[in-house]
Amino acid sequence: MCKRCLDYGFPTVMGRGLFGEFKNFVNPPFLIVTMPDLWEMFRHEFEGADYQLYLTDSIEQVDLDRDAAALTGIRAVIGLGGGQALDVAKWFAWRRNLPLFQAPTALSVNAVYSHRSGVRDGGKVIYRGYAVPECVFIDYDVLRAAPRHLNWSGIGDILCFRTGVLDWQYARDNGKVEAKWPYDPDLADQSLSKVQGIIDNIDGIRAMTDDGIDALVDGLKWGTSFQGSGWCPRHIEGTDHFLFYTLEKQTGKKFLHGQPVGLGIVVGSMLHEQGADEMLDTIAGIGLDVRPQAMGLSWDQAAEGLTGMRAYVNTLPLWHSMAHDVTITPGFIANLKQRLDRAYAHRS
Ligand SMILES: [Zn+2]
Repeated sequence: MCKRCLDYGFPTVMGRGLFGEFKNFVNPPFLIVTMPDLWEMFRHEFEGADYQLYLTDSIEQVDLDRDAAALTGIRAVIGLGGGQALDVAKWFAWRRNLPLFQAPTALSVNAVYSHRSGVRDGGKVIYRGYAVPECVFIDYDVLRAAPRHLNWSGIGDILCFRTGVLDWQYARDNGKVEAKWPYDPDLADQSLSKVQGIIDNIDGIRAMTDDGIDALVDGLKWGTSFQGSGWCPRHIEGTDHFLFYTLEKQTGKKFLHGQPVGLGIVVGSMLHEQGADEMLDTIAGIGLDVRPQAMGLSWDQAAEGLTGMRAYVNTLPLWHSMAHDVTITPGFIANLKQRLDRAYAHRS
């Protein structure tokens, strides 16, 4: 047992028919944080309950603080959604010091198993705040009924553990690892075992069977090891997310998280010359489409992001990765395009 794996996941209940129970145990009046389309689907679960509704819109910190300050009479918060609603629920629970219950309707991003909220400060991504839910309620039927690509997106926040570890090893080998985050093989191995959990469950995740959902949840739970490791992010993410940050900054687009991160996982694996085929086979085998055109980008935009990544990440307070050093050439981009075309050849 590694000394730094004590903090693993939040209290979690896996089951069915869970959402209809909230009105029987969450202290009223409670706040439901969700999105308009989801509310239409789930409002019947809260019939007769004493609640207020908050439909998320902005994730700019100033907007969230203003809305948190305006809440009155609320005794608990329920986050009902995929990513943004869960992050906003966390923010309100934190700022108003309220008990939090999380009800993911899709596993598109690891908002559910992180203490901090991914919000924006003047458009820039920051992870800030602190909220530990009383419990996370994973409803197999709810997740299975969600659009598949939303759940497939969640593998991005698990497979990225491998590129994170590769960047950690790269920084160590090049004398650029931060003094406070020396390479920790125990931590790295645990991250890699979560990646293996996805590789071993490709069919189950594609079909969203109970086993597939279990594998996704197990991998996402490892997100809490960010805190468990003393806020070391190195075994969790690297070049994978750095490409996403670059693309978001350059295009101003709102992405399905797993798509740019998934592309970053393939790119990072290629840069490290380690396991790129296995990553792409896993991602494409599950069904997540990480080609630029699948996320509304032209290849010119993708190429601009790839070639601009180095300059951009060097302006950010990030840990050292291969993305900080490498010059991405037209030849590399042509190779990437070829690999992606081949992996998704059977698709339109
Ligand atoms: Zn992520």
